[in-house]
Amino acid sequence: MKPLTEPEIRTAFVNCTKGEAKRLAVPRGLADRPWDALDFLGWRDPQAPGRAYLATELDGRTRAVALRSPAPAPWQARRSMCSVCLTPHAGGVSLMVAPKAGTAGQRGNSVGTYICSDLECSLYVRGRKDPAGGARIHESLTLEEKIQRIEGNVATFLAKVVA
Ligand SMILES: [Zn+2]
Repeated sequence: MKPLTEPEIRTAFVNCTKGEAKRLAVPRGLADRPWDALDFLGWRDPQAPGRAYLATELDGRTRAVALRSPAPAPWQARRSMCSVCLTPHAGGVSLMVAPKAGTAGQRGNSVGTYICSDLECSLYVRGRKDPAGGARIHESLTLEEKIQRIEGNVATFLAKVVA
């Protein structure tokens, strides 16, 4: 993806107030991120582990969403495959919940999905990072097809947040 700057990220949030978008934790060292290998930028707030964020380009526009990652209930701990990149993990997948944009979000509506806890789907798919304790499933998809799958799943998720 195209490298993003902090102001670009802050103005791209679709599901939080302008004030929240101004204050939330944007990672340092953005210029050093491996942008060529990223389908989206995902990060967690180091001061608040229950908060995570995701930014990507959709239809030529930068879009970012704020996510909540509630502590998993015991039955959730068994869930072990990311719904975005389909990487299996031993305990490395988190339920991430995004308040919906606009009035739907103000009424408390949200959208949830299971994502790699570190939000580094792009790196797992490219073999630049190995899932802890997980086994790579053999798939006949090419890398290009897996990348398209990530883009498609993220786009579907964002569409539900904005809808
Ligand atoms: Zn993933």
